[in-house]
Amino acid sequence: MAVDNSAKGMRVKEFIETDTAIDARALQSHLNGIQNAFQPFRALTDDFSTDAADGKLAGVPVTVKDQICTRDFNTTAGSKMLEDYRPPFNATVVDRLQAEGAHIMGKTNMDEFGFGTFCTNSAFEVPKNPHDTDRVVGGSSGGAGAATAAIEYPHIAVAESTGGSISAPAAFCGVAGITPTYGRVSRYGLIDYANSLDKIGCLAKTVYGTALGLDVMAGKDRNDTTTVDRETGFADTLDTDVDGLQIGVPAQYMEFEGVDDAVRETVWTAIHELEEAGADVEEVDLPRLAKGYTVPAYYIVAVSEASTNLARYCGMRYGAEGDPDRNGFNEYFSEIRTAYFGDEVKRRIMLGSYARMAGYRSKYYLKALKVRRLVIDEFKQAFREYDVLAAPTMPMIAPTFDEAAELDPVEVYAMDTLTVGPNLAGMPHISVPCGTVQDMPVGMHIIGDHFDEQTILNAAYTYEQQ
Ligand code: GLN
Repeated sequence: MAVDNSAKGMRVKEFIETDTAIDARALQSHLNGIQNAFQPFRALTDDFSTDAADGKLAGVPVTVKDQICTRDFNTTAGSKMLEDYRPPFNATVVDRLQAEGAHIMGKTNMDEFGFGTFCTNSAFEVPKNPHDTDRVVGGSSGGAGAATAAIEYPHIAVAESTGGSISAPAAFCGVAGITPTYGRVSRYGLIDYANSLDKIGCLAKTVYGTALGLDVMAGKDRNDTTTVDRETGFADTLDTDVDGLQIGVPAQYMEFEGVDDAVRETVWTAIHELEEAGADVEEVDLPRLAKGYTVPAYYIVAVSEASTNLARYCGMRYGAEGDPDRNGFNEYFSEIRTAYFGDEVKRRIMLGSYARMAGYRSKYYLKALKVRRLVIDEFKQAFREYDVLAAPTMPMIAPTFDEAAELDPVEVYAMDTLTVGPNLAGMPHISVPCGTVQDMPVGMHIIGDHFDEQTILNAAYTYEQQ
């Protein structure tokens, strides 16, 4: 099907023009109401003027996960350790968004350093799900999910995923969320969780919004040598042609025992709608995507990298401080880290240090890297046959706060079974709302090959337009 460019141009305008018509005061009081009801963010500015009136995002309110540096505005990564940290610089993505006229209007709440699946591990406010305030929003970019669901204006939420932190809140809050290929978007100015896994992406109410956000943020950055120059322009080429699109449905995801029956049924219905639109759908066996491989490999790699990244928070360079002269340095470091890190952070430092320790290194860390290689190969093999893979994003709807609190850490880690695979492999993926169960949103996950964001966006867009 031919792409009608004039129509695409119209859509950009619509996205922006609704917004430039916004009265700043009305927006402000809307945001205050949302903050009071769901606690998704900390307001950062009430100045909605822009120097880039012709920019792609002129007038669009944008929120930024609090793990991404904003010059002169506190960037806490959800941790008491960084409560008063004011970066002297902007992350590259923030500069790029502002250069296109975006208003960076708030920092969204998150699990401390990105460690979590429900956004209940924040040292500050824990956001509530706008669809049901007794339920969690999903983590770790929970504030981004809640804000996107609640804000009734064009809005893009910049977020980050290490193992599913964009997809989980998108699914639980009923919005779209894209995690790009590793290296597509600069991580300069991101407070690292695990460098080989971290990716900046975005959430929006529509697939189009995510495509537009990604267009603005993507591209080579000399401050991040892992970035690459690849074609973008996703929003302009969004298309609803899925005729002949080969969709593989991994049995290891769809039949995973943790997937709730009603969620499975809802996602199958959505996949069949894509089939009716012309796609070819087939179940596929991808044994290395099973929970037994991906979840342990992911958590070992992630906590190993995290434990080294967290070594810098010792009360000396930046962040929380105390009195180093009192007891000597070792005691001082322990005191600071004991006082300012939360429980999940301490757990991960211990796990990560253990996995990297001499004697255990080859048993855990190096083995996890080998499994990671196998997972990448499994995806690569699958993408020789299929254009995209589709599955539920999360195995269940957002749990209540009480249900989430009853799970032990290993049970929580298992909730990431469907999202850690593509993250380990650096494959782009998008979660798109595909129905409800018990009045709560369900997300369909569409995973693509490296740098093939356009195909997953088109598939998600096609589904959304139906
Ligand atoms: N839930 C996963 C974790 O805790 C993923 C979090 C993330 O992507 N930042 O590691």
